[in-house]
Amino acid sequence: MLKGVPASMGYAIAPILKIDRQTIDTTKFTVKNIKTEIAYLHEAIDKTVSQLEALKLKNDQTFDHETSSIFDAHIAIAKDPEVIKQVEDKIIKETCNVAYAVKSVVLKVVDMFKDIEDEYLKQRASDLLEVSDRIIKNHLDIEMIDLEKIDHEVILAAHEITASEAAMVNPKYVLGFLSEVGGKNSHSSIIARLLGIPALVGVKDLMKHVKNDEKVILDAEEGKLIRSYTNDLESFYQNKITNYVLEKHKLESLIGVKPYTTDGHHVELLANIGSYQDVKYAKKQNAYGVGLFRTELIFLDRYELPSEDEQYHEYKKVLESFHPQPVTIRTLDIGGDKPLPYLKHQDELNPALGIRGIRFSLVKDDMLKTQLKALLRASIHGHLKIMFPMISTKEEFVKVKRMVKNIEKELIEDNINVGSYELGVMIEVPSAALIADQLASVVDFFSIGTNDLIQYTLAADRLNSKLEYLNQPYHLSILRLIHMVTTAAKKANIKTAVCGEMASDPIAACLLIGLSVDELSMTSSSIVKVKDKILKNSYEDLVKLSHKILSLTSDIAVVHQLKKHIK
Ligand code: PEP
Ligand code: MG
Repeated sequence: MLKGVPASMGYAIAPILKIDRQTIDTTKFTVKNIKTEIAYLHEAIDKTVSQLEALKLKNDQTFDHETSSIFDAHIAIAKDPEVIKQVEDKIIKETCNVAYAVKSVVLKVVDMFKDIEDEYLKQRASDLLEVSDRIIKNHLDIEMIDLEKIDHEVILAAHEITASEAAMVNPKYVLGFLSEVGGKNSHSSIIARLLGIPALVGVKDLMKHVKNDEKVILDAEEGKLIRSYTNDLESFYQNKITNYVLEKHKLESLIGVKPYTTDGHHVELLANIGSYQDVKYAKKQNAYGVGLFRTELIFLDRYELPSEDEQYHEYKKVLESFHPQPVTIRTLDIGGDKPLPYLKHQDELNPALGIRGIRFSLVKDDMLKTQLKALLRASIHGHLKIMFPMISTKEEFVKVKRMVKNIEKELIEDNINVGSYELGVMIEVPSAALIADQLASVVDFFSIGTNDLIQYTLAADRLNSKLEYLNQPYHLSILRLIHMVTTAAKKANIKTAVCGEMASDPIAACLLIGLSVDELSMTSSSIVKVKDKILKNSYEDLVKLSHKILSLTSDIAVVHQLKKHIK
């Protein structure tokens, strides 16, 4: 049995089809005619752009905007004038061949991103490599594997499955994806989820172990690839596949249902998004609004700071899409382990405890001011809630609130309209939770970021996989802090949301409701699963259960109680 990281849930039983990468020769050699070489470069780029446009067209008929935008991004990369100019310069300066020039320029760009622990940026680097490989293959006339032609059931196995490969497959025949590299947010993983194909990434030495035509069981719920099994185990999994399909259809039927508990308590379920591109799927899942817009993605996915206008248009589109429902936009949460590649950050000994989130914004207040201006200008287009990350003292919030009010005054003086908006804070540092009563007197809302709250309360770096055992959402310290926050919020008559991963877990979500959390914000695909649980439980029982849990002594006992009582 091999293990991997589940990137798209589900089960499959089918023979393996390995897709091995052809090696591409990018050795440097001297060319005779620079002009011809540059003409070859443009030929290869044109061919690549037409192939990508054809793939996008095909994709538009099958998928939605989310995957279509992957191809838009790839086309933009292939046409990027800055990169093309660098390749041309290299060919001219070194009288070298296209394949070498493209590869070395791209590797230099990718190298800029290599130390950044950000899934999204890593994806951008992998997009750049994928597109440049396509350009080189087109130049060298290397034929690409035609996955569209697969006409019998298989599970694909590869070192890496690229976005364009994933988008080419027919889910009727390709029943699963397996790869040695890639993350949950790789484009091929996103496509796998859209196609409903189970996928495992990070399967170590996969290509060394599996053989073509070998029949395997893929269990992407538990992250297992089972290679030898009995008939009984196979029938056990056949049953799971049948039940899984039935359950999926049942959950889809809940999209239009309102999230009320059996005794009529209403809980708002909102979406976490990273850009306007995520809005369509969030709306499809019937998200009430946006509970967390992580704006850092607009800043990370590029080579320079986004202008006030660019930001304004992005915020405007999201606000308009959900109008009149709320959209909570978090100001830039950058620094620490999430540096911007194009800004100079000072090295810090302890980045997670360093200049990140609001601390960074207060140091680089020109960036925060630009963002706030864009946000206030966009406020006339919908129900805007501005949220500040990593607040650890009341003074930090008072300072940014003053800044917002000054910017609003300046805009009005310049005859620019500003609509109404709310100002809130993320509660993700224990000090903020412990002074929630004082913060509640100055803010309009709270949103608990359980990912960081757990990291800082249990003093366990969330990026350190060896400390995964301390990622304990049910630790009494966390539940007590959450309860303190909701108690203070209720007293001050303001609302508390949870936008960390805990809100996406149906069982944990029930516990949060019992602890008086008003709103839950999560990845859109979790909304129906959480709703399913809300519809089966009574608010009164959840409140009783959570209060009982607050007096327990271990998180194991908490899990036991939750499993026993939550329906
Ligand atoms: C959190 O910390 O829970 C949160 C939602 O913010 P992020 O995951 O972006 O740090
Ligand atoms: Mg956080």
